Amino acid sequence: MSLLTVEHISKSFGGIKAVSDFSFQVGKGQIVSIIGPNGAGKTTVFNLLTGIYRPDTGSIRLDGEELVGLKPYQLIENGVARTFQNLRLFSELTVLENVMIGYQSRIHYSLWDSLLVTKKKRQGEAQAEDRAREIIERIGLSHQIDNDCKNLPYGMQKKVEIARAMVSEVKLVLLDEPAAGLNPSETAEMSDFIQRLKEWGYTVLLIEHDMNLVMKISDYIYVMNYGAELAGGLPAEIRSNPQVIEAYIGKGGVQRVLKSG
Ligand code: ATP
Repeated sequence: MSLLTVEHISKSFGGIKAVSDFSFQVGKGQIVSIIGPNGAGKTTVFNLLTGIYRPDTGSIRLDGEELVGLKPYQLIENGVARTFQNLRLFSELTVLENVMIGYQSRIHYSLWDSLLVTKKKRQGEAQAEDRAREIIERIGLSHQIDNDCKNLPYGMQKKVEIARAMVSEVKLVLLDEPAAGLNPSETAEMSDFIQRLKEWGYTVLLIEHDMNLVMKISDYIYVMNYGAELAGGLPAEIRSNPQVIEAYIGKGGVQRVLKSG
């Protein structure tokens, strides 16, 4: 069953068609990846899904609800959470504090509640803390809970960012290049971690350049080129697709990786 249904979205910047009549689906509980050469339009798709940009045409539905026109904070409330290519953690805050921030969209209290530190405010904070502690324990970082994020190795910081996305009642987690900047052992850990997200019931949409990781964990892969779909299929189909190999020729040897997988 499809959780996310994207139909015919397009987005231009001046004369540049960043995304052009692109359609795709993500089934509940799946890991779906979008790959493609640099400038193919992948990040723009994420920005359209998270309300940073509004598509010129097309529709984006989550569980049947239209998302086009919603603001980024409304999308979080609707269950779409994301991570970024470059970490966006508060490095001076602890792991617990960073993860609690992801829960803010679920807590509703007024300025009055905040100023007077009312019971409602205290209950909201306690709820956020309980939930954050639960997620941190689940991802195996309880031993770092009170450590400032700046003191953690990069791979752990990336997990904290994903935990912040997981902590609200999220339906779809968008991961933007989770393996970027990781060393091989951290990448292997990240690969296991994303598979565990699936086991825990999360639905994941992934943009990633590391083809080994993509081929290993994806249920389905969409390949973008020049803003449009070049191919869609299972990892084995994508790996042997001549058009996909062609699109990657000269792009840093990814062709070789696709072949050898
Ligand atoms: P990469 O893998 O390098 O991150 P990508 O597949 O994510 O690339 P996008 O960043 O979505 O590609 O860019 C698609 C095209 O749209 C590129 O030509 C890019 O220069 C252009 N583009 C993206 N955002 C903007 C913007 N805000 N203004 C103008 N052009 C943009």
